[in-house]
Amino acid sequence: MKPNRRVHIGLDFDNTLIDYDGVFHQVALEKGLIDEHVPVSKMAVRDSLRERDQEDDWTELQGYVYGMRLSDAAPYQGVLDFLKKARAEDMTVSIVSHKTRHPYRGPRYDLHAAARKWIENGLCDDEGALVPMERVYFHETKPEKINRIGSEKCDVFVDDLPEILTASGFPESTRAILFDPSFHHRDMTSSGLTLMHHWRDFDTVLAEL
Ligand SMILES: [Mg+2]
Repeated sequence: MKPNRRVHIGLDFDNTLIDYDGVFHQVALEKGLIDEHVPVSKMAVRDSLRERDQEDDWTELQGYVYGMRLSDAAPYQGVLDFLKKARAEDMTVSIVSHKTRHPYRGPRYDLHAAARKWIENGLCDDEGALVPMERVYFHETKPEKINRIGSEKCDVFVDDLPEILTASGFPESTRAILFDPSFHHRDMTSSGLTLMHHWRDFDTVLAEL
């Protein structure tokens, strides 16, 4: 892709920028919901609880982590370097996410506010914000998110969910990159999606679009 104008990169938030594996494992251990043999992975924590019919515990754990413990979650490796480079190269970067405002169970944490705080505190360096807050959009539904990707005219959008990138309303002019850090979607290349397994590969992936 060789654009002759500012490139606009749109980014999903959950499981694309923010890596929940460590914090889910840590909090589940703290609460005595799992033992230390469960692998350090959000999905392994979920599967362990589901195997024991503790679906409600899993739902409540999500509300607690997303509402109260985001400060213990890290960006994926390479995210900060990517954002610094994008800022240095004068790219426009937006975060476009869909996320419920409150958890399905348990205390009514404001999940949008918690996520914004994480972005403010976590996605910055000595020079300031890596993504300006006015370029951060949290919507409550997937159609609203997809409309935003279109109205913002993102040239590229990175998301960990194929269902977003292949949705019928996904803008034709936006190139889709499927972020797949755990190699779950190797079969998706046949669907026309471009896969990226690590943020350090972004340049290479972008160059091939
Ligand atoms: Mg996501």
